[in-house]
Amino acid sequence: MGKQKVFRKEQLKFMIFSFISFTVIFTIFGVIIFSQVKSTLFTQTDEELLSFKAKVSDVLPEEDHRPPRFDDNDGPQNPNERKGPNNPNPRIMMLHWNNEGEIINQNEIGTTIYESYFQDYELDKENVNAITNMTINDLYNFRYIVFEDHTEGDEVEYVQLLINTDPEQTILANFGKLIIICSSIFIILSISASYILSKRMMKPIIKSWNKQTEFVENASHELRTPLTIIQNKLELLLTAPQEKIMNKFENIALSLSETRRLSKLTSDLLTLARADSAESQLNKQPVNVDNFIKKVCNPYIDIAESQEKHVWLKLNSKIEIEADEQRLHQLLVILLDNALKYTAEQDSIGVKTYNEDHKVVIEITDTGIGISKQNMKYIFDRFYREDRARSRETGGSGLGLSIAQWIVTQHNGTISVSENQHKGTTFIVKLPKK
Ligand code: ADP
Repeated sequence: MGKQKVFRKEQLKFMIFSFISFTVIFTIFGVIIFSQVKSTLFTQTDEELLSFKAKVSDVLPEEDHRPPRFDDNDGPQNPNERKGPNNPNPRIMMLHWNNEGEIINQNEIGTTIYESYFQDYELDKENVNAITNMTINDLYNFRYIVFEDHTEGDEVEYVQLLINTDPEQTILANFGKLIIICSSIFIILSISASYILSKRMMKPIIKSWNKQTEFVENASHELRTPLTIIQNKLELLLTAPQEKIMNKFENIALSLSETRRLSKLTSDLLTLARADSAESQLNKQPVNVDNFIKKVCNPYIDIAESQEKHVWLKLNSKIEIEADEQRLHQLLVILLDNALKYTAEQDSIGVKTYNEDHKVVIEITDTGIGISKQNMKYIFDRFYREDRARSRETGGSGLGLSIAQWIVTQHNGTISVSENQHKGTTFIVKLPKK
């Protein structure tokens, strides 16, 4: 399967996943809000029903002493009809049922209403004391409670309190519609959000995939060249087994030098592979910068002298930093090796340290061939070499500065390159103080 196809498939997978997640979140959110509003709306009506029921029940015991449940002056015409509590709730309708399951306060609720809605209505004995919903004539919504309320002296067996919930139902229906519309809009919007997110998510993956592929290609290429040379030279040696080593000295020396290059290359590749997998851990400890640099530079003074180059040190930092000695050593070796590699006879190489704000600055400067301005931004890239032929001659593979940059970053520092004032290059490393 092509690379692009794999990426597209992964992007689609992520897009579908985020779209489903968004949809589930919006749906759950909508359901929670809807049920919360519903319960709040009906809590109010239920409280009204229960408080009215309490009032009805309160009236009864007192009235056992007298018949004022049946108000003589303005009470119902039927002597069996019971009067409700004072201050009745205008939203609540009260039905009195007798033992035969008939409504006996028809006059109180109004003959028209009774005949239109309650004539064929039956007492619900199954839901006694439970608040229940009902719809009359498929039009009007009520919540009601039925409770037993038998008192001597009247026919009433059950009382049913009904409260009209049409306003609540209308609010709820409108709110439900609103939630569905909003959720649908959000779900539609989430398609584009998922697309944008999936594209963004794939970007770094594609970038690192390409980088990795490039790295593997470059690495194999770098490994193949010395291997081919070694193979050729060894095959050549095999063709003349009787030959003395002295006569084949050049071939052997070249194979050896390519073997060394291979060994350095594999160890550099390993360092970078470990850096990528974040496997490499620093072992930091206090390091006196000036003393450490002096120690690392000492052998280079002799090497430089043998090449008729001059090394100078100006160490003025005089402080300690927290660093991994092994990695710091590797960093200085990379920069000093390069300085030696890219300088000629009579050139000079200098190492300078000083303090700046909260940082220690290490400058490694040379008067060598320098780096052209337009290439300076590439020199920390893996396998980048300004002059491939020359770099190969000096044994370079273009990995040194990538490793140097990784070491500095691991120490929370920075590394940069600039032109040396007159001629050559200056590398500036800034590391945080302790
Ligand atoms: P190499 O192993 O090829 O030296 P590096 O990553 O260390 O790889 O360096 C990358 C490139 O940067 C080199 O090939 C060279 O062109 C350039 N470079 C590094 N250091 C110097 C320097 N001191 N002077 C001039 N060019 C340099």
